[in-house]
Amino acid sequence: MKNSLVVVFLLLICSNIFAQENPDKNRDQAIKQYLAEFVSGNIQHAFSSVDVALHNVLRKVPDHVFQAVTDRKRPVIFVDYYTSGIARFAGSTEFVFREGDQPAFQDGFYLIQLGDALDSVEDPIAIEGVILHEIAHRILEHLKADHFSCALEREANRLVKSWGFEQEFLKAKEYFGSKSPGDSPCHDKKD
Ligand SMILES: [Zn+2]
Repeated sequence: MKNSLVVVFLLLICSNIFAQENPDKNRDQAIKQYLAEFVSGNIQHAFSSVDVALHNVLRKVPDHVFQAVTDRKRPVIFVDYYTSGIARFAGSTEFVFREGDQPAFQDGFYLIQLGDALDSVEDPIAIEGVILHEIAHRILEHLKADHFSCALEREANRLVKSWGFEQEFLKAKEYFGSKSPGDSPCHDKKD
């Protein structure tokens, strides 16, 4: 009797370990698939700080946010853009599906552009804050609103913080927040 209790106890421990490990493993596999399909090669290979930040964000966001970003019927697509060098004039990005990839884009897609200036900051936490802010706009469907307002910006920031990313929000504000009137239409508004 005692032995069987020990076995049951061990089984419970094992099932707990697997229950904790599998979601991470599943998330990592889903991230790999998502990156291959919906994130530009330049972000992954030429924007080293942004690449680290994007990985961190994809690992850390709540499940429902991850599902929305990687929803293949309407995925978020990340592309790079340039404010310096000859690539600032024009460039192309190609997304190629591999054999076995399921159909996508039945409901469109949501495009997030990440600039080379973002990659100039080496602190991934700050970059994560920016990426999270852009994802928050998608979750809140702000592009479907017919107007821009500073209230929408503040709502996106509040959502990022509600997900538990206070530190990322503050770092993003420190590095990338508007520094003077004219930088942003929301310069004087509080977050
Ligand atoms: Zn915004």
